[in-house]
Amino acid sequence: MSFDTLNLQPKILKAVTAAGYSEPTKIQLKAIPEIMKGSDIRASAQTGTGKTAAFLLPALNLLATPSANGSKGPRVLILVPTRELAMQIATQAEKYSKYLERAKTVCVVGGVPYHSQLRNLSRPYDVLIATPGRLIDFINQRKINFDRVEMLILDEADRMLDMGFSEPVEQIVNATPSSRQTLLFSATLQKSIIKLSEKLMDNPVEITVDAERAKHENIEQKLHYADNLSHKNSLLDHILSDKSLEFAIVFTSTKRHADQLVDELADKGHHTAALHGDMNQRQRTRTITQLRNGRINVLVATDVAARGIDVQSITHVINFDLPNNVEDYVHRIGRTGRAGAKGTAISFAAGRDRHLVKEIEKFTGQQINVSEIAGLEPSPQKYSSRPMQRSRFNSGSNRRSDGPRWGNKRSSNSGGNRSNSGGNRSNSGGNRSDSGGGRSNSSGGRFKSAAKPSQGRARRPHSTKR
Ligand code: ADP
Ligand code: MG
Repeated sequence: MSFDTLNLQPKILKAVTAAGYSEPTKIQLKAIPEIMKGSDIRASAQTGTGKTAAFLLPALNLLATPSANGSKGPRVLILVPTRELAMQIATQAEKYSKYLERAKTVCVVGGVPYHSQLRNLSRPYDVLIATPGRLIDFINQRKINFDRVEMLILDEADRMLDMGFSEPVEQIVNATPSSRQTLLFSATLQKSIIKLSEKLMDNPVEITVDAERAKHENIEQKLHYADNLSHKNSLLDHILSDKSLEFAIVFTSTKRHADQLVDELADKGHHTAALHGDMNQRQRTRTITQLRNGRINVLVATDVAARGIDVQSITHVINFDLPNNVEDYVHRIGRTGRAGAKGTAISFAAGRDRHLVKEIEKFTGQQINVSEIAGLEPSPQKYSSRPMQRSRFNSGSNRRSDGPRWGNKRSSNSGGNRSNSGGNRSNSGGNRSDSGGGRSNSSGGRFKSAAKPSQGRARRPHSTKR
């Protein structure tokens, strides 16, 4: 099923194609037609299934027609729990609206000075993305006129409730015209969400997608404890030589390490290429095509670059380093086991990563089996005396939202440079993850930054195996 069947404006379709999306995700396929009909909806789908575009595309579609109301203020209001999520949505909105004339977006979020936001609000705009606390401040100061609001969207409604925003959310919703269309998106539709939606909506259509796949039941998850970098390299060699491995994605935490690993693997005879945030869209598309048509069989990727990759033949996902947060873990392993196929996800962890493994297990509700390879067992004494490290994952109110993140935030959370002292993080001296790279809030273009000439090219082994 292609995007063409969804009756979206040609300019939006063009932007979707430019974003590299070939077909809508399930939630997009179900939600977009309902939204375009004008229904209120409450929708749930697993993290990483494209909920943002599911509401942004029809919202932007609505903006393609001029407003009948001549007053100032947003036509689309999007409420989100965190500033990071607001920024991510703004980036996506920019991406999907790049060919539209009318789709100016303003963010109103906590933790930034009021004056610049006030300035933005004083100019014409169409979409307002806001966190409840700051928006209430502006409402109380009568800085925003909601008369033009045609569509109100609550994203990550479950987290908004978890964060205690139910009262402010109700207050905000009540300040908008009752003629509005209301959309609620959530990872789950628990009782409290249903209750909230009943207060805010008119006979909502309920849309849920793929609860079983959320559990990744078709993906076998394994974990290897590793002593250090060279131990991880040996484990990787062993796993890549497995006959059942056809196509693999290896995740590293830095771009630099991804490039380095590609060189090392090519020298060992693998058909391999890197996929990370220094690559432009063309290079990225070429690499994915090479993976699809079998010219490469080991892709070495960083988190942000690998989002949304849908290559059905991927049999193995290997986490050379554990990701920074549990949602990234779910995104990563979801690259295998596509379309109901069986997949294997193997993670390497240091002894001090034990609690991270627990957090992943808690989040996914599944236990990860610890495996050992004969001759490559970890040395037990390495782990026993290590002090517990503070959580690298964000949980509770500090938990970051899913999807791409902002580099400054992430690098500060991840402790910046990880030095050699820990042993197996010695390779991560560079920028941690590609979200720290050349992305800016306004360009929406992690693919726009210039890439080195060598990047994105598949590395061929000297003696060809495949
Ligand atoms: P969710 O909100 O459901 O957790 P997001 O909206 O953040 O998921 O989307 C996850 C990733 O999938 C994003 O990187 C987005 O660009 C990508 N994506 C969304 N829709 C599609 C699509 N139809 N095809 C390919 N990638 C997509
Ligand atoms: Mg989302």
